[in-house]
Amino acid sequence: MEMTIFVYSILLLGVMGFITGFGLAYLAKKFEVKEDPRVEKIIKVLPGANCGMCGYPGCSAYAHAIVEKGAPYDKCVPGKKSGVAEKIKKIMEEES
Ligand code: SF4
Repeated sequence: MEMTIFVYSILLLGVMGFITGFGLAYLAKKFEVKEDPRVEKIIKVLPGANCGMCGYPGCSAYAHAIVEKGAPYDKCVPGKKSGVAEKIKKIMEEES
């Protein structure tokens, strides 16, 4: 008798785990947020100092602002010498 309860408990937990996992996978796919690939490319060319001198809380926020709100390309102060603005301009032109 105790063995049967143990087996049923294991089976019930397995089924519940499968249903929950399947449901979470389905919902993750359904509500997936697709990000513009230019954001990731711009983040890669930015210095990554997250200093805030561009007026945004970090490099990622600045990259999002460029792509989504049309922020100017030349706001990154540490990246001026390495030509970050030109690299950003190139990314924005080739993918738009
Ligand atoms: S100024 Fe440049 S390095 Fe500093 S947070 Fe902005 S994008 Fe990043």
